[in-house]
Amino acid sequence: MITQENSNLIIKEIDTSRIGAVDFDNLTFGSDFSDHMFECDYKNGKWQEPTIKPYGLLTISPAAKVFHYGQAVFEGMKAYKDDNGDVFLFRPEKNFERINKSSKRMAIPEFPEDYFFDALHALLNLDKEWIRPGNGNSLYLRPFVMATQVGVSASPADKYKFMILMSPVQSYYSGDVKVIIAQEYSRSANGGVGAAKAAGNYGAQFYPTNLAKEQGYDQVIWTDANEHKYLEEAGTMNVFFRINDTLITAPISDRILDGVTRNSVLALAERAGIKTDVRKLSVDELVTAASDGSLKEIFGSGTAAVISPVSAFCYNEKDYTLIKPADSYATRFKKELMDIQYNRAEDSFGWRIAVK
Ligand SMILES: *Cc1c(COP(=O)(O)O)cnc(C)c1O
Repeated sequence: MITQENSNLIIKEIDTSRIGAVDFDNLTFGSDFSDHMFECDYKNGKWQEPTIKPYGLLTISPAAKVFHYGQAVFEGMKAYKDDNGDVFLFRPEKNFERINKSSKRMAIPEFPEDYFFDALHALLNLDKEWIRPGNGNSLYLRPFVMATQVGVSASPADKYKFMILMSPVQSYYSGDVKVIIAQEYSRSANGGVGAAKAAGNYGAQFYPTNLAKEQGYDQVIWTDANEHKYLEEAGTMNVFFRINDTLITAPISDRILDGVTRNSVLALAERAGIKTDVRKLSVDELVTAASDGSLKEIFGSGTAAVISPVSAFCYNEKDYTLIKPADSYATRFKKELMDIQYNRAEDSFGWRIAVK
C-alpha cells in the first residue's frame, strides 16, 4: 500500500487492482465497486482527515444511529470518458450543494466543498481505468453521509461518516417503462423530507413499487399526498409531460426533489425554443389529454437513466398507451444531454467539468 498526502487528503492506494475480475459488458447497476473509496469522519464538532483508501468493509457498531433512525443522505452522479480517454463530471457543484441541503434537513453537519471536490478528482484519477468510453458507460458516484454515533436514544448524532463509492455502470433502463398513478400511497408530504435525498425516502417507496410490479407496472407516478390529484414524480425520477408541443413539469417544492437532469432538460428545451410550463398538472388533465390525443409523451429524468420514456400509464384501473412521436422530446433531450456529458457536443452552458 502506498500512502501519500496531498494538501490535507490522505491517500492509501491498493496493492492489486480488482479490475480484471469485472465483466464490463455485463454489469448489474450499482453492484461492482472500483478499487478505492473516500471516507471522512465527523467528531468533536468537526470533519476529520479526509482519506482515500482501498474499497472494503466497514466496522460499525450495531447501535449506530443510522440503523435506528435512518439519519442518512446520499447523492447520485456520474463520471464519463470521451474517446480520447479524458474524464468529465456533469454539473457536480449541483450535487455538492444538494447533499448539504439534504444534510441540513436531516440535522447532519454540512461537508466542506474542498474536501468534496479534492476527493472526487483524486478518486477519479486513481480509478480512471474503471470508466469505459462508449455511450452509456460511466462510473456512477455515490457520495453519502450516515450517523455513526453509538446510542439508541432518539436525537441527532454527534458522529458521522461521509463516504464516496464508485460503481462502473452501463445504461440503466432497457426499453420503455409502464407506470401506475398513485391513488393510495405517497412519496412525500408538505413539510416532509421529499426535497432531500434522504435514504428513507427510497425505503418507503419500495413497498408501493412492489405492489405496482405485481400488477405488471415498472414504476409509480407519485401524486400529491393531500388529494392524489397532481402529478409530482415518477419512481425515483422527476417527470415531464408533453401536451401538444408544450413540456410540462411540476414546480420544485418541499415534496419534489430538485433534479439536476430536470433542471438541464428545462434549459435545453428553452434553448431549443420548445415551450416549457412549470406548473401543477392534474391527473384529470392528463387523462383528458391522453383521451383527446394531445398527450404526446411522458418521460422521467434522473442521473441513473438520464431520460426514461413512459410507454403507458394506468389510472383507475384503465391503461393509456403512448406512441412515441417521430420528433420525440425524450429521444432528443437524452441525446443532447449525453452528447454534452461524453464531450461530443459543444457545452454552451458550462456544465461539463474536466477531471484533472
Ligand atoms: C435523485 C432524484 C431525482 C433525480 O435527480 P437528478 O439530479 O436528476 O439525478 C429525482 N427524484 C428523486 C426523488 C430523486 O431522489
